Amino acid sequence: MSVLDETMHETLHRPFDVAVVGGGVMGCTTALFLARAGMRVALIERNALCRAASGVNAGTLTLHMTRAALVPYAMRAWKMWMNTDQWLGEGVLATAAPGLSLAFTENERELLRTRAAARREYGAEIDLLAPEAALKIEPGLNPAMLEAAYCTTDGFASAYLTGRAYHSALRAAGVQIFENTPATRIEQLNGHYRVHGPQTASAPVRIDATRIVMAGGVWLEPLLAMLGIHIPVKTLTNQLIVTERMPPVMRTVLSIANGLLSMKQFANGSVVIGGGWQGVGDRERGPVETIPQNLTGNLRLAQHVIPALAKARVARIWLGLESETADAMPMIGALPGLDNAYVIGCVHSGYTSGPYMGKLLSQAILGDTPELPLFDPARLIAAPAASETPAASAISHREHTQ
Ligand SMILES: Cc1cc2nc3c(=O)[nH]c(=O)nc-3n(C[C@H](O)[C@H](O)[C@H](O)COP(=O)(O)OP(=O)(O)OC[C@H]3O[C@@H](n4cnc5c(N)ncnc54)[C@H](O)[C@@H]3O)c2cc1C
Repeated sequence: MSVLDETMHETLHRPFDVAVVGGGVMGCTTALFLARAGMRVALIERNALCRAASGVNAGTLTLHMTRAALVPYAMRAWKMWMNTDQWLGEGVLATAAPGLSLAFTENERELLRTRAAARREYGAEIDLLAPEAALKIEPGLNPAMLEAAYCTTDGFASAYLTGRAYHSALRAAGVQIFENTPATRIEQLNGHYRVHGPQTASAPVRIDATRIVMAGGVWLEPLLAMLGIHIPVKTLTNQLIVTERMPPVMRTVLSIANGLLSMKQFANGSVVIGGGWQGVGDRERGPVETIPQNLTGNLRLAQHVIPALAKARVARIWLGLESETADAMPMIGALPGLDNAYVIGCVHSGYTSGPYMGKLLSQAILGDTPELPLFDPARLIAAPAASETPAASAISHREHTQ
């Protein structure tokens, strides 16, 4: 065995304090705060950091689309995104911009008011505006709107920068990052966990740790099954569209009360359009293909809201996989029946809330009382299996969520 091999052997076989499986925003943040608190942390990612949902999402940092009960978490996370220099180092071009959620029909107006009231109850400062007031803020809007909800805690980031930013911070904090290392099996040994990975040139990967955190996004269901825990995790295949660069057509983050649209214009002039329209995909195959009528439906809605988008040309579309539990609330906390095993994931608007959720879980793992309550995964174990979202559904999951 070479000196390097011996060092590697020692590194892998002296148990880490914690192994985090899954390097999206949830796993990376948890790993970062645990390492900064002095733990020896292994972060195990089967691809590269933040290349799944956390790297391909729309980057909207919003309260309008966040479930009402998650607003207190999202507000704290929003501040973290706007101040990455204080805790992450490198940033993700997080930009504060007011958010307007719009109603064009009586039903949407009803929904807008209910949603705004629910979020206000949880601390979001959301005001209702008449069309004239909304047009002063966003002159390019379709004046046919009936009402708008306005919130200054909104904005967006460039999600593709997330992996790079976390990589630097994690390395600086001393986290041992294992990329291109899928966890294939997890053994529970005497007092610790052993994560098995693929065969390398010298030996199969085996990473021992006294604690384990499962942070595998839509792949949490098979990952938790490795620990004998069965929690159904639904996969949403979200479509996103980016236009070519165009002159300024909007300066706010725009959405519709029914949740079927979200969009903003980046500094380079391109407009990113989303809203949870579904494509074809699942966790086995990944994102597969778009559904033409969902693409045109999403674009039509965007043009309806900002008529100047009629001139926009689509540069690219892509799909990403988002996870959801049976009750559409997160699972974050200790796994029942196991010692020192935790899960974090399935957070609605999870990019917005990610940094704060990871920080909270790290507080619990460190033995502190988390600043806000976690989301006990035990409630989901007895829940009936969630049916998979039909791949051809044109309906956004967001419209069903309060
Ligand atoms: C298209 C799209 C648009 C979205 N837009 C927004 C938005 O605008 N605003 C917002 O707030 N939220 C948005 N979201 C939601 C947000 O992106 C997610 O909630 C969040 O990124 C989830 O982070 P995560 O760490 O739980 O999961 P992920 O980022 O998916 O990370 C999980 C990681 O686990 C790894 N993994 C899985 N299995 C294994 C294994 N066996 N071994 C090792 N590693 C493994 C995966 O490779 C992956 O990197 C969007 C999601 C999508 C898909």
